[in-house]
Amino acid sequence: MAKKTKTSASGKSGKHVYLFGGGKADGNGGMKPLLGGKGAGLAEMCRIGLPVPPGFTITTEVCTYYYDHKRTYPPSLKPQMQAGLASIERITGKKFGDVKNPLLVSVRSGARDSMPGMMDTILNLGLNDQTVEGLATKTGNPRFAWDCYRRFVQMYGDVVLGVQKREDEDHEPFETVIHTLKHERYHQDIEDTKLSPDDLKELVKRFKALVKQRAGKDFPASPWDQLMGAVGAVFGSWMNDRAIVYRRKYNIPSEWGTAVNVQAMVYGNTGDRSGSGVAFTRNPANGVKEFYGEFLINAQGEDVVAGVRTPEPVAQLKSHLPKAYQELERIRQTLEKHFKDVQDFEFTIEDGTVYMLQTRNGKRTAMAALKFSMDMVKEKLIDWKTAVMRNPADQLDQLLAPVFDANEAKKAQVIATGLPAGPGAASGQIYLNANRAVDAANRKEQVLLVRVETSPEDLRGMIAAEGILTARGGVSSHAALVARQMGKVCVCGASALDIDYHARTVKVDGKTFKEGDWLSIDGTAGKVFAGRVATAPSEIVAGLVDGNAAAKQTEKFKSFQQLMKWCDQATRMSVRTNADTPEQTENAMAFGAVGIGLCRTEHMFFEGNRIDAMREMILADTVEARKAALAKLLPYQRDDFAGIFRALKGLPATIRFLDPPLHEFLPHTPEQQKDLAKKMGIPAEKIHARVEQLHEFNPMLGFRGCRLGIDFPEISEMQARAVFEAAAIVQAEGVKVRPEIMIPLVGFKKELDLQLELVHRVASEVQAERKTKLNYMVGTMIEVPRGALTADEIAQSAEFFSFGTNDLTQTGLGMSRDDSGSFLPHYAELEIVKKNPFATIDRTGVGQLVEIAVTKGRATRKDIKLGICGEHGGDPDSIQFFEKVGLDYVSASPYRVPVARLAAAQAAISSKR
Ligand code: PEP
Ligand code: MG
Repeated sequence: MAKKTKTSASGKSGKHVYLFGGGKADGNGGMKPLLGGKGAGLAEMCRIGLPVPPGFTITTEVCTYYYDHKRTYPPSLKPQMQAGLASIERITGKKFGDVKNPLLVSVRSGARDSMPGMMDTILNLGLNDQTVEGLATKTGNPRFAWDCYRRFVQMYGDVVLGVQKREDEDHEPFETVIHTLKHERYHQDIEDTKLSPDDLKELVKRFKALVKQRAGKDFPASPWDQLMGAVGAVFGSWMNDRAIVYRRKYNIPSEWGTAVNVQAMVYGNTGDRSGSGVAFTRNPANGVKEFYGEFLINAQGEDVVAGVRTPEPVAQLKSHLPKAYQELERIRQTLEKHFKDVQDFEFTIEDGTVYMLQTRNGKRTAMAALKFSMDMVKEKLIDWKTAVMRNPADQLDQLLAPVFDANEAKKAQVIATGLPAGPGAASGQIYLNANRAVDAANRKEQVLLVRVETSPEDLRGMIAAEGILTARGGVSSHAALVARQMGKVCVCGASALDIDYHARTVKVDGKTFKEGDWLSIDGTAGKVFAGRVATAPSEIVAGLVDGNAAAKQTEKFKSFQQLMKWCDQATRMSVRTNADTPEQTENAMAFGAVGIGLCRTEHMFFEGNRIDAMREMILADTVEARKAALAKLLPYQRDDFAGIFRALKGLPATIRFLDPPLHEFLPHTPEQQKDLAKKMGIPAEKIHARVEQLHEFNPMLGFRGCRLGIDFPEISEMQARAVFEAAAIVQAEGVKVRPEIMIPLVGFKKELDLQLELVHRVASEVQAERKTKLNYMVGTMIEVPRGALTADEIAQSAEFFSFGTNDLTQTGLGMSRDDSGSFLPHYAELEIVKKNPFATIDRTGVGQLVEIAVTKGRATRKDIKLGICGEHGGDPDSIQFFEKVGLDYVSASPYRVPVARLAAAQAAISSKR
């Protein structure tokens, strides 16, 4: 962890600037909160002797100060930056603003967590009409000097002075100037590298005129003014729209702020022995241990990630610049040995010499994370617990995501190929613009976002889409980075696509696809298919759920099983499942669930015409009528419970008594009412009248939970009888049964006691009738605040608690589970809530209720069994909290069970570290 530096509120003291270079650094790799990821990485690389151009990092605390003080800086920043520049000058022998040997710098953002492409960067800063001549003479390369200058004016004009595309323009204004000049002088589109020094000189002139016209001021000539402008722009970009959207998606708090890195320029654009690239120490898409990356000859770094030119695979460097390649191989190994994790790094080669500009832990797909972790344990780089920690729990479901059905994919027509940038299979209706993609997704369409290349402005569209397809750009282009991180399927650089934004069509392979037409992409193989292709389950699901023997032989399956084995070794909490049928139970057990944490018995009546008997029971207006309906329900329930007990093979099942919010079960439409009336042989008016009578304004807080069983004890009696008879039947077959009867929505001990008395009575009856002894428990849900606050009283009767965090959130926040969708997104935007509290537990509020109930429950009954069965039981962040408060288990839906197992294991490991 970073050592906190002291900053007084006035900003008059404190270290704001951390130097690095010449094999030394003030900071280190552990200081990400203060120096940002980039700054910390640069410092660490200096310390381990890698070739890093010298520079300095302005801390994230300065960013916070900047926003707290009306966008001004602490007074001591300036002298510290001057000292920083002096240090760079000493190491490089160049001077900032010097006309003979000018020092140029890059200015880059760097937040604690990387936010690819979201914030601003400025290169070649320090150039003006005088220093450009110095650079030209010093390097003997006027073309290079003027190319740097025109790039600088363009970037600075855009980022700092705000000369950007207007609503009525199709292209960036600087690009339009370049285009016009090319056509004036060459009558065609030539490559930028073909522009002569004189062309570039002319471009600088025209760019400056454009700046003057649009920004209303001269382009700054003083390097110091340029530097301060750039620093302000980087801090300012922390609050730009796309950075805000990104932070919201990844839950990055705005208080973190960004650091700014000022670093001596090295040049990838001095000619054919230079270039820039990005690389991973292993393949981040599939996890294979191979040097993976790409580069562009004679280019600056931004050209590679911008996706404008399609770069070459890094392996090509071997023949092109063998010495540089060898050096990169050495660096690759040094990085992995030192960081003990896969690194994603940026490099520049200047006249054959390699320089490192960044390193960070590489973003990876779930597939790659799994393979990295397994391989690194074998290579003895990490231990098995670290391997568990290296698999992000919230990405794990990528491994369970469907792939294209192999037979269907064989039949489907491949219309283009591109780079496999984000694995998985996706089919969708195509949209060529982010806003229209978002609209279509809101209409519940399955969307594929198709772009020539993506830019950060497309983020919303990418979030909304199932998959992303681009015509240009490499595996480290913006589209690819963001897709991988979001777990989106992505194929990029499918150059055969002819995309016409204006006509909204994609022409390829002699066909024309309009917006709304279907395409399918395979992000593992890099293929594009016409139409919609059916998907098949992943090998893990095929192996575990379907018992497919071939799937079980795959490396993916075996690695997954190994990971789950380690999770079991590490975990303290166990993982159960929320299941209402034998099939769901079996699936969950295949994924490793060790019992049912919640069987919602009302869900057992959703099927076929069972709902009629259920409705009959609810609508009955006399005890006799209700008993008659219950008699119909009893055999269903008994058979279902028996099926579940058999499936569980001795594992415990928490069976919750009926909790039907009436609005979910009543027949509302006249047709439904008529239909039911016919089946029941009573007039439709009678049903209508009873529905009216039972109507509630607030059904979620109405006649539900134990209130039903207290008013109509015959309902609970029927359920208790069904459970115990099923238990007796299955036990007689030689299978152990462990029923745990759970009473819902308890707020008063007396509620539980009334139901408890009834359950024990029926248990005795059934045991006597069947001449058998049954082991069972009775407990309650804690899901209303009063229940939590009086948990000490309730624990006198309850043998276990299961936290119903859905209702506890609903009642704790006073926010309807069903209606909060209308305002919660706005609340998230305003950061009133950081995450949706129905998905991730609100630790400080609802979490406190859980903690109180845990403490009070245990004070009364030391060994009370504690679990959670709300949706939060499958959410990694919430699971960490449940570990912290010491629950015994979490319960999650069947397909979330692996995620919950991983998250529980990780929570246990980190709580010990
Ligand atoms: C809960 O409230 O968290 C719970 C599990 O019960 P239900 O979702 O069925 O109300
Ligand atoms: Mg509930």
